[in-house]
Amino acid sequence: MRRFLDNAIESYSWNRAVNCVRLYSGRFLDYKRCPSVHEVSIAASIAEGVCEEASKQGVDHVDAVHVRIGAMAGVVKDSLSFAWDVVVADTLLAGSRLQIEEIPLTVYCPACETERTPTSPAILVCPVCQAPTPRILSGREMQVVGMEVSVAVPHR
Ligand SMILES: [Zn+2]
Repeated sequence: MRRFLDNAIESYSWNRAVNCVRLYSGRFLDYKRCPSVHEVSIAASIAEGVCEEASKQGVDHVDAVHVRIGAMAGVVKDSLSFAWDVVVADTLLAGSRLQIEEIPLTVYCPACETERTPTSPAILVCPVCQAPTPRILSGREMQVVGMEVSVAVPHR
């Protein structure tokens, strides 16, 4: 694991992600608790964008960040939450909550001419008529919806 993390450090250019990964390699030896580098880098890029926006708006502290993540986005929710806490330490997002809304997978069935939810994300077929449903309507998104903030004095 340690070796894996060291390799990951080399492949990352963004500072905060690097710091985060270093922290993990130093502190956590429990493999299961360690989020994958994938989630760490996603958490880092969300945090970067939110920090930038919050600074622009003169926000003192961000209390929560709301994101929407599709079932097909390839993100492990628990890993992302865990990575978030570490990634935001020492930023104006420190201690903030990452509120994750999971978006279910929905597809369009051309035979039924309606929206369906496949039984398995691995097999994109209509659960009613079994027709192939390659057109995904939702479930791939990864969006920052908004943030809850503390503002001491409104900027004029
Ligand atoms: Zn159908």
